[in-house]
Amino acid sequence: MLEAASDTLSATLPEVREDLRGTHPYGAPQLPVAHALNVNENPYGPSSALAAAIGQAVATAAVGLNRYPDREALELRRGLGEYLAVESQIPAPPAEAVWAANGSNEVMHQLLLAYGGPGRTALGFSPHYSMYPEYARDTYTAWVTAERGPAPDFALTAEMVTAAIQEHEPTIVVLTSPNNPTGTALDLTVVRAAAAALAVRRGLLVVDEAYGEFRRDGVPSALTLLDDHPNVVVTRTMSKAFALAGARLGYLIAHPAIVDAVRVVRLPYHLSAITQAVASTALAHREELLGTVALLRRERDALATHLSERGHQVAPSDANFVLFRSFADREDVFEALLARDVLIRAVGPAGWLRVSVGTPEDNSAFRTALEEADPR
Ligand SMILES: *Cc1c(COP(=O)(O)O)cnc(C)c1O
Repeated sequence: MLEAASDTLSATLPEVREDLRGTHPYGAPQLPVAHALNVNENPYGPSSALAAAIGQAVATAAVGLNRYPDREALELRRGLGEYLAVESQIPAPPAEAVWAANGSNEVMHQLLLAYGGPGRTALGFSPHYSMYPEYARDTYTAWVTAERGPAPDFALTAEMVTAAIQEHEPTIVVLTSPNNPTGTALDLTVVRAAAAALAVRRGLLVVDEAYGEFRRDGVPSALTLLDDHPNVVVTRTMSKAFALAGARLGYLIAHPAIVDAVRVVRLPYHLSAITQAVASTALAHREELLGTVALLRRERDALATHLSERGHQVAPSDANFVLFRSFADREDVFEALLARDVLIRAVGPAGWLRVSVGTPEDNSAFRTALEEADPR
């Protein structure tokens, strides 16, 4: 009925915001393939015991669904703080220094709402996560980029970051560590330099650590800088290492004044009682959920070594994916892999492809398919 509207009626459709015309929504393909290695999910779902515990928590929350949820989600925020204290060996932050929302995408959107806006600029470093420019656009924040260093390292130095801040005069800088799509983790000297260059302009530094738990031994988290740099926010998510992408739970840790600013722009009761119950239960069972991280890191290193040995250029990865340069045209390789039931991502600089680390079976299927899809 709707699609049958006549041309005359279509001509009266409301006109969308000018800057949104002709744009398309985020859309990594969701295809029914045997080996989905395209959105950096953890391939291991919860055990049936944990699924039952989550179900029980949901049932308990369901009894109170006639009421709005706890607007401040304090219990969950306290639990997330305790987890981070253990994970990154920092003193446990109070609930007031932690904020949670529906995925770290929503957290970042809220940060841009509170600290971006007309006349303000956000700066990122290419190649970067595809969503950053969209948060900026939605909030009428100007989005500018500087380039990361050359392949295959895609490194950033303190000098590069400081120079870009001086040139673009941003209010917000986003540093991603480990970076998506390159996998590169940042040295803390880079993060410190960005925080210092922004502090004098009273700007905000967002360090997106969506893949933080996958970093290699000895690679520090920016969480250790929070005490000395009140203008730094670290964002994390339960979507990747925590194996909980379907629940939609992201969070940040920062000075409580930053959390307060985000509380002003969040929608009322943004985090459902169901989400809070699921996330709190997942946190209580974090040993199981994070139990696959060590295996995934080993598989990641093995995959990177395998790709190098085949002769590909490979970006060193501290995440649960590997970016590599194909021999043949990347779109052809992508399609040839898909024809063999392996879905990866054509993303990053021209000629490069990103593959998520799956189960050993997934990774072996990818390796076999690549032999035919991208012969040496
Ligand atoms: C996957 C990813 C996220 C996480 O998004 P969620 O909304 O938490 O699922 C955030 N940042 C980057 C760079 C990512 O790759």
